[in-house]
Amino acid sequence: MKDYMIRVLTKNKQIRALALRSTKMVDKAQKMHKTTPVASAALGRALSAVAMMNVLEKEVKKTSLKIISDGPIDRIIVEANSKNEVRGFVGNPNLDIFINDLNKLDVKKAVGEGELYVKKVYGLKDPYESKVNLVSGEIGEDLTYYFTMSEQIPSSVGLGVLIDKDYSVKAAGGFILQLLPETPEVTIKKLEENLNNITSVSNLIEEGKSPEELLDIVLEGFPYEIKKISETKYKCNCSKKRGIEILNTLNEQEIKETLFEEGYLEVTCHFCNKKYKYDEQYIKKHLEREWS
Ligand SMILES: [Zn+2]
Repeated sequence: MKDYMIRVLTKNKQIRALALRSTKMVDKAQKMHKTTPVASAALGRALSAVAMMNVLEKEVKKTSLKIISDGPIDRIIVEANSKNEVRGFVGNPNLDIFINDLNKLDVKKAVGEGELYVKKVYGLKDPYESKVNLVSGEIGEDLTYYFTMSEQIPSSVGLGVLIDKDYSVKAAGGFILQLLPETPEVTIKKLEENLNNITSVSNLIEEGKSPEELLDIVLEGFPYEIKKISETKYKCNCSKKRGIEILNTLNEQEIKETLFEEGYLEVTCHFCNKKYKYDEQYIKKHLEREWS
């Protein structure tokens, strides 16, 4: 079953919603970074969120989320591009397993306190950048707060990742609901009721529910029209040539010393752990500056 997401508008034009199944994407991330369960849950929630946020607005070409925190996970960096390919990593993939009072993986404890940065890149317009404090550390609640505070759109974000005993990802997915202007109180009340009936997004995905079926539950009582269906997957678009950008940030002395000692420079891509080697000839040809 492929990962995909749908964007819908309710027939009464009061609610915009998105739902996603991201099991494959998150499982690939888990295998690539060998994350332990809490780290997989945190990374998987962020990857699912950035995939959906990237298709919320038609004009957005690229979206990135960055959580910098004082918790043991240290940081979560995720991004999605115009082909809806996502990639990401966490600062500490080897976290111990934290379990909370509800017997669930304790993402809140892993993330701790810190800040959430959102960047959206448009075609010709300047990028949109915003920063909010983390209010929960569960990521879904933090994004709900971000949408309400920064974008002033009352929203609800649900994200879930279920990890198997062998650390692989059993199910992952999520939804975003947004109220359009002048939505009446009666709609909000009914939505709140619907949301209260959902205990776990990841369990619903595990039961085999599709993004459409997930929205049938979340938007119960609100017929909707599907506006867009998009496939999404984990894919890193790094290359040897792009890696040279990192070398551009080093000073010439550092580069020369490493070349003298090692014979080459090595750059590791944080998003996929691929290593690229650069010898002097390649560096001289591609580095964007004078080389004496
Ligand atoms: Zn890469």
